[in-house]
Amino acid sequence: MRTPPVVIGAGHNGLTAAFYLAKAGLKPLVLERRPVVGGAATTEEIAPGYSCPTLAHAIGPLRPSVVRDMQLERHGVTFVRPDPRLVAIAPDGRPLAFSIDHARTAEAIRAVSSKDANRYQDFCATMTRLGTFLSGLMESTPPSLDAPGRGELWELLKVGRRFRALGKVDGFRLLRWGPMAAADLVAEWFEADLVQGAIAARGIFGTAQGPWSAGTAAVLLLNAAIDPAPGGSSITVIGGPGALTRAMASAAEAAGAEIRTGVGVSRVLVRDSHISGVALDNGTEIQASAIISNADPRRTFLDLVDPVDLDPSFTTKVRNYRCPGTVAKINLALGGLPVFRGVVNPADLHGRIHIGPSIDYLERAFDASKYGSISSEPYLDMALPTLNDPSLAPPGKHVLSIHVQFAPYRLAAGQRWETAGETLYSSVMRTLDRHAPGIEALVEHRQVITPLDLEHTYGLTGGHIFHGEPSLDQLFTMRPILGWSQYRTPIAGLFLCGAGTHPGGGITGGPGQNAAREILQQLK
Ligand SMILES: Cc1cc2nc3c(=O)[nH]c(=O)nc-3n(C[C@H](O)[C@H](O)[C@H](O)COP(=O)(O)OP(=O)(O)OC[C@H]3O[C@@H](n4cnc5c(N)ncnc54)[C@H](O)[C@@H]3O)c2cc1C
Repeated sequence: MRTPPVVIGAGHNGLTAAFYLAKAGLKPLVLERRPVVGGAATTEEIAPGYSCPTLAHAIGPLRPSVVRDMQLERHGVTFVRPDPRLVAIAPDGRPLAFSIDHARTAEAIRAVSSKDANRYQDFCATMTRLGTFLSGLMESTPPSLDAPGRGELWELLKVGRRFRALGKVDGFRLLRWGPMAAADLVAEWFEADLVQGAIAARGIFGTAQGPWSAGTAAVLLLNAAIDPAPGGSSITVIGGPGALTRAMASAAEAAGAEIRTGVGVSRVLVRDSHISGVALDNGTEIQASAIISNADPRRTFLDLVDPVDLDPSFTTKVRNYRCPGTVAKINLALGGLPVFRGVVNPADLHGRIHIGPSIDYLERAFDASKYGSISSEPYLDMALPTLNDPSLAPPGKHVLSIHVQFAPYRLAAGQRWETAGETLYSSVMRTLDRHAPGIEALVEHRQVITPLDLEHTYGLTGGHIFHGEPSLDQLFTMRPILGWSQYRTPIAGLFLCGAGTHPGGGITGGPGQNAAREILQQLK
């Protein structure tokens, strides 16, 4: 019997890749070190009776072809698309709701600036056009730089044609905006602090960059390729992200994959420059016809591969791949629904809740992290999943999922994450109390997840939520490393399929789907 391909990790990208390999008849074996599937997309009990999205709380969104091919709805997924998607909380108590309906959002913006209100729909339409162009690039495999094949040249020609079809104005915009700072881009369109802060935040979410960092406009544009609406996605599923990845596992199994949890891989075994199998944490060895790593690039090459199996110059490039993160996560079990300043209709809280009311606020929050400090006034992106799915907590109670930026993985001398969790929690609660007075009195239980926990417990090297910084030098043909963006690696039979590959992080299934396509072509 043919040895199966082994997928290291059952994150949503590993599950997506496993599904497509299984559908092609390859019967992959998925090995996941944690007791549950899903990686960064899980829902876990944080206290008896309270379940919360452990890490990610909004779904990418997933690529529609992945949802369709995996028949996720038939595997039990019920998507929820809250409206408004996002509510930006303001210091003066006048929140701004970003509705699914752009005209309604424009009218809401009129309360802070009629100039911004008049430009909003044009901005949305521009983001949709540029996002549509970029989404084509995200679905394709970046071309080889050394020796592009005939098929790749044809694809490049098609990209060139689609770029020309954008027209001069949008084409120039794309070229000019990419390297810019998100702060500059939003200032070209909008004047009100609250509008600027809410829209620019998409350029820095999950990154080690502030809104004035060059290249953050590119992150904003890439997010527009996933979902062009300025508020970003607040899509969730009943049961939280864990229900989604359990359904993805079920789809992969139905197609012929085998999934084992609680099984960590300790080594990729290589013989004569070709993989031969994997060694497990318990010492067992499993033969493999191919290995597809859903672990991040640094973990794959620096922890799982023996250095003697890699060229030292390649190892140096991997060491230079930047992935120190700046995100922490706090999950709260609350005795009741918190009241946010100015939010009169609780329905406005069904999407994400944004605290980052201006460019200056976001940049100051980032500043602290540059010097290894936890922000005293962090940028917070939150969700109250119990509003969309009350089964996640006892009746009348809630869970609050808080994405905290900036909390740098590398703390300044004298501080350690082993003891800094309390400082982080106090800073978040102080910030929250300004916007939701009295919230601390509602807290019944808390879960504080530091960047070090992201690394140790969830396997994210450097605590980076996207498996590596989405900066201009680590995107497209350079993700993860220049010359190695086609999911192959210098070791024959070893492939990557996680967020550290093109098109990057977020719960989209993009890297897993693209990788499976390339792997199947290689294995043919
Ligand atoms: C705090 C946080 C908040 C986020 N918020 C959002 C959000 O709101 N919206 C959004 O779209 N995205 C969000 N993201 C990003 C998104 O969740 C990730 O980009 C995405 O889930 C990555 O998926 P993946 O399958 O590539 O990798 P992962 O989910 O990291 O999965 C990798 C898997 O490999 C396993 N693994 C690693 N090493 C081994 C080994 N040696 N042996 C066996 N198994 C191994 C890991 O345990 C893990 O299960 C967030 C991420 C975090 C951490």
